Amino acid sequence: MVRTKPTFLSFCFLVVAGCGGKAPTPPADAPVTPAVPIATTPEIDAKLAAADKKDGKEDKVVHKCAGCALHMDGDAKFALKVGGYDMHFCKDACLVRYQKDALGELGKLKVD
Ligand SMILES: [Zn+2]
Repeated sequence: MVRTKPTFLSFCFLVVAGCGGKAPTPPADAPVTPAVPIATTPEIDAKLAAADKKDGKEDKVVHKCAGCALHMDGDAKFALKVGGYDMHFCKDACLVRYQKDALGELGKLKVD
């Protein structure tokens, strides 16, 4: 009975160490844009579609900066993929706001 305990513990340690070792460590200069697009709801999709039209063409690119209520032109340098859309922002601060909470920010965005 006493002998099984260390074996069990080392087994646990190996499992934990194995999993921990597999976790990818992104390099410090990795792009901040997540590789996986942010999942949207139908309401957010409708808003993105309306925002897409604001730049004059429906191309799945929201070129107007949503961080500035679509009043500024965005830049492909500050892009974020949300659902099926590429959102362009005018500056890093606007992009960061949407990176933190794209769905919350889009929920507050007024597209008229
Ligand atoms: Zn902006």
